[in-house]
Amino acid sequence: MKVTILGAGVIGVTTAYQLAKAGHQVTVVDRQAGPALETSFANAGEVSFGYCSPWAAPGIPQKALKWLFMKHAPLILRPKVDAAMLSWLVKMLSNCTSERYAVNKSRMLRLADYSRIALADLRTETGIAYDERMQGTLQLFRTQQQLDASAKDVKALAADGIPYEVLDRDGCIRVEPALSRARDKIVGGLLTPKDETGDCFKFTNALAAKAAELGVQFIYGRTIKDLQVEGGQIRGILTDQGPITSDAVVVALGSYSPLLLKQVGIGLPVYPVKGYSLTIPIVDPALAPESTVMDETYKIAITRLGDRIRVGGMAEISGYTNDLGLARRNTLEHSVMDLFPGGDVSRAAFWSGLRPMTPDGTPVIGATKIRGLFLNTGHGTLGWTMSCGSARVVSDLVSGRKADIDTADLSVARYG
Ligand SMILES: Cc1cc2nc3c(=O)[nH]c(=O)nc-3n(C[C@H](O)[C@H](O)[C@H](O)COP(=O)(O)OP(=O)(O)OC[C@H]3O[C@@H](n4cnc5c(N)ncnc54)[C@H](O)[C@@H]3O)c2cc1C
Repeated sequence: MKVTILGAGVIGVTTAYQLAKAGHQVTVVDRQAGPALETSFANAGEVSFGYCSPWAAPGIPQKALKWLFMKHAPLILRPKVDAAMLSWLVKMLSNCTSERYAVNKSRMLRLADYSRIALADLRTETGIAYDERMQGTLQLFRTQQQLDASAKDVKALAADGIPYEVLDRDGCIRVEPALSRARDKIVGGLLTPKDETGDCFKFTNALAAKAAELGVQFIYGRTIKDLQVEGGQIRGILTDQGPITSDAVVVALGSYSPLLLKQVGIGLPVYPVKGYSLTIPIVDPALAPESTVMDETYKIAITRLGDRIRVGGMAEISGYTNDLGLARRNTLEHSVMDLFPGGDVSRAAFWSGLRPMTPDGTPVIGATKIRGLFLNTGHGTLGWTMSCGSARVVSDLVSGRKADIDTADLSVARYG
């Protein structure tokens, strides 16, 4: 079957690889000059199967109010006259109940756990390298209150059979020796040892090369304008340089997916939630983290990527804008220098990206009301983590096979 994939981020490229492996004739179209040049470019580098949770959680509305007034705030809200933003915020708030949180988290964990297996298989079959490490995520608590509040996460991890360790200050330093220089800032931590780390940009580029070897055609520098539908069946797409026909289309346009889908009457509640990162060259490896340290106070992840440190976080709700503000850079610098003093942030690269967020945290994967049109989008905070499983699921569904995991509650139909 001829399949066109819209978007060459980590989601589009993993999907292309799996579909090519399944024997399809695959074309990937993207407006950029290569793979992973938008949100998949410089994310925080966590492949956190165990840390996978929706942002919409009980207590978040109260916490959000407090965060809005913090100096180094994890959340920045720039309200404007934007119906999509308002509708998304309302839907997100309605998911902040214990019941919704439990349902949403279990969906995300199902997909994340499947992605863990899919990524391991993919590494074995391709041998690709991407500054990967398998040393876990350490969620770091600076206050007793944070440590106490982690009891609900511990309960969820235990219930889902995900390995974890609750650590005191010395335990944290044993796992991350460079934290010894910030000893007095730490109260404890929660380690999920099966989590991984890696550079999403390197991963996506290496996998795109493997996909090309399998026959996938990549068309770059081409903007997708519309979907071509006839009698309820997808026929292809229209780009700024003409049409491309195909039997099936997979939309993997990240935050831009809803803009295209709206034109064919599919409402997708995905909204861009902006985040920022710094990439800092390591001066002295002894002063750098070994894996991912998640600074719970500022919700900032600090990850070792080969000879660099990636510091990523913040959620800014301000629409489709990638501008870089000095205050945001200061927050990232503050978190990393506070916990890992001795780095040289003056040489850091500063970046922003738009997380394609659904209000319930779960990506949107599967068929639509248009025959042959499939979605693989809305991966939000942990798209790199959930990419490999999502790709396998979509490949199975496009191929007319039953996926290995339950997919009934992952499609756009769940929004009614
Ligand atoms: C600061 C930050 C930190 C993060 N940290 C992590 C982390 O540690 N771990 C993790 O798992 N996830 C993390 N994420 C989330 C993760 O990066 C995203 O979920 C993931 O990259 C989304 O991938 P995607 O392929 O859906 O989107 P993208 O990478 O944005 O790909 C979409 C592609 O579609 C193309 N496109 C869009 N519109 C058009 C059009 N009209 N025509 C042609 N092409 C088009 C774009 O050029 C782009 O290449 C983070 C995100 C941010 C912002």
